[in-house]
Amino acid sequence: MAEIVAFGESLVEFVATRIGQTFNSPEAFEGPFPSGAPAIFADQAARQGASVAIAGCVGRDAFGEAILRRLADDGVSISHVARCADRPTGTAFVAYRADGERQFVFNIAQSAAGLLDASGISPDLFEGCRWLHIMGSSLYNTGAIRAARAASEEARRRGCGISFDPNIRPELTGSHEAQRALWETLEICDLFLPSEADLRFFHPKLGRDEVIRKVLERPSLEAVVLKRGAAGSLYVDRKRRIEAQGFEVTEIDPTGAGDCFCGTFLACLVRDVPVEQALVRANAAGAMAVLRRGPMEGNSSKSELDDFIAARSANLPSVLTSK
Ligand code: ATP
Ligand code: MG
Repeated sequence: MAEIVAFGESLVEFVATRIGQTFNSPEAFEGPFPSGAPAIFADQAARQGASVAIAGCVGRDAFGEAILRRLADDGVSISHVARCADRPTGTAFVAYRADGERQFVFNIAQSAAGLLDASGISPDLFEGCRWLHIMGSSLYNTGAIRAARAASEEARRRGCGISFDPNIRPELTGSHEAQRALWETLEICDLFLPSEADLRFFHPKLGRDEVIRKVLERPSLEAVVLKRGAAGSLYVDRKRRIEAQGFEVTEIDPTGAGDCFCGTFLACLVRDVPVEQALVRANAAGAMAVLRRGPMEGNSSKSELDDFIAARSANLPSVLTSK
């Protein structure tokens, strides 16, 4: 039984050890770190106390062992992750430019992860499900897009909510087919959780508030939660606008903060935590995530997150609600 279902790429990642490091000359990378956007999300939601299952495919190799062991140790159900003998587990490499931009090299579609398709989404995944979480980065080939459609149809049939983090990675979702699938997912989701950069993919010429207004014209969409990096997050539905300032921390590695934010927010929703509080907790989890090098090394348990917030209780970031 899983209250939250995710699917897609479970990987290992190698992280450049120096800002400004490029892929053009040999230098040290640290890893393998357990990774993959849906895996980071699922791990964090489980560590926050939700029951979570992930579907996907990894190789029968040491990297597959590493990611699955981490997920299982942290309480994620991995019984719907297939092990594939003839393709290796997916990998990602990330380097950070001096201006903060990231450069990725992904090996996902050609890896075991590329074998996921609709047959990997079995209806029993959705036993007790309240939210299906879809990540745009998981729409990397025809099979994965079919898996997303199968998952959303099953979620709809059972009356689960669908949350969508577009997590745009041009290296993964540059094809026409993937871009169509990103739009398709926006049409069917109940909760939309983009980053500021993701908004530009959908409406490159519009400002932030205009995009939010435009996407909320869809009757199916209940709310938008915008991830704003160090600035925090913004929740908008048809009645309320809630701006939750970020926690002040010194960022070491931004990768995974968005997935960690979403995992925390969804774990709060299944416990019926009020939105204001869910935003504070998700912001705190995102801030904790950037304190550690490695995509899911900064994930946090419920008590670690409680302690992080309690330690700042004298000076909590503001939460402003308006109509
Ligand atoms: P990614 O796709 O790399 O995982 P994202 O772009 O989807 O990330 P961000 O907005 O970078 O998402 O981060 C998610 C949340 O984490 C932010 O809304 C914020 O709450 C928190 N966060 C991120 N970076 C920082 C930071 N430097 N300081 C404090 N909080 C941060
Ligand atoms: Mg993201």
